[in-house]
Amino acid sequence: MATLSSPFWHQPAVERALTGARDQNRLSRAYLLVGPDGAGKWPTAMWLARCLLCAEPEGSRRPCGVCDSCRRVDATTHPDCHVLFPIRKSADEDDTEAFLSAKHADPFAVVRFASRATLAVDRVRELITELNKTSVEGGAKVAILFGADQMDRISQTVLLKSIEEPPPGVHFVLTAADSERIYPTIRSRCQMLRFAPVAAELISARLQAENGVEASQSDLIAALSGGGWGAAVALATEEAETRRKYALTLWESAFQAQASTLLEEIGKGFTRRGLDHTLEAFDVWAYCLSRDCARAAGIARTPGPAGGAAIRDVETGWDCWRILSNGRSVLRVNVLPRSAVSATFLALRARLGSRK
Ligand SMILES: [Zn+2]
Repeated sequence: MATLSSPFWHQPAVERALTGARDQNRLSRAYLLVGPDGAGKWPTAMWLARCLLCAEPEGSRRPCGVCDSCRRVDATTHPDCHVLFPIRKSADEDDTEAFLSAKHADPFAVVRFASRATLAVDRVRELITELNKTSVEGGAKVAILFGADQMDRISQTVLLKSIEEPPPGVHFVLTAADSERIYPTIRSRCQMLRFAPVAAELISARLQAENGVEASQSDLIAALSGGGWGAAVALATEEAETRRKYALTLWESAFQAQASTLLEEIGKGFTRRGLDHTLEAFDVWAYCLSRDCARAAGIARTPGPAGGAAIRDVETGWDCWRILSNGRSVLRVNVLPRSAVSATFLALRARLGSRK
């Protein structure tokens, strides 16, 4: 597993903003780090916590990375560094352990659970109570709310009061993949820093060089990663490859098989699939389609990884694209994955004129 010494892999704007503020001893009381999963928001939040709690007195020498404080921040055991992250209600301790051990092994790791994980209001309240106490070691206190976009309305209201008037010495670091899900009133209290998606070519090259991923897989993984290194690593497992292969096979056969056979195949593959894995399959099909469209438009010569879509012109491609994005958005409103996938493929076949 590749770990990085710098939290700022290909994030020069974030690095400049934070090291500049650090050098002048002007770190903000509240940051909101926004960007794709696995882009480095967690290691950056930990870097900020080390900066604020490090034993080194001078700005530019912080964080030293070797003092007792820095080490305890990294181990998430510092008594003045409070960390919240999304877990499932039913599995508090197991999820906490799974999340932290993955992050300790690789700060860029993307941790997903089989069902929805949140920052529940009782945990946010507990955090605020801790923040109102005096600092254990006499210095600053740091509150990291990782995945703050997974807070519901009540949790956000509870947090808002504290962010509006932070207790003395308290610094907040919030992270989010989707900043729109955070109250404007909270956002306006934070300095927002955006992590740009890293270019697919860079991620693909690194997967080949450091993780031994074959070239035939690395481009697809990089495209699916959304520009986050950690998300790409999570997709480079055998399990994820099996899921991708199934999605590719389905795409390939979708336009040749009988409709009834196709629906049966979809039923087998998607009955037990969660939302995340179904969205991932939609990403695979979007990638295949984009490659086929590029070929139809004369931009690319080689077809996509599964050549079944038979996109002959850009107009057909565009219609298919709309069908795919529609299927993807339907999934978000609580439709069974199997139904969304079936409806999408039937619509695609109708558009492509399959008579089987
Ligand atoms: Zn230190």
